[in-house]
Amino acid sequence: MAKKKPKKQRKFGKGSRPCRRCGSYGPVIQKYGLYLCRQCFREVAPKLGFKKFS
Ligand SMILES: [Zn+2]
Repeated sequence: MAKKKPKKQRKFGKGSRPCRRCGSYGPVIQKYGLYLCRQCFREVAPKLGFKKFS
């Protein structure tokens, strides 16, 4: 009986979630339940009432 390797399930880090706006797997901001990559966040942030994200 062969040993089965457990599947790796990443819940954190890069590649765990795509940006829900552009779909890219980059550094996605999951704060505030946004799930946006940094670039999209910068575009959307002003509309959401966030000030400059630095
Ligand atoms: Zn994006």
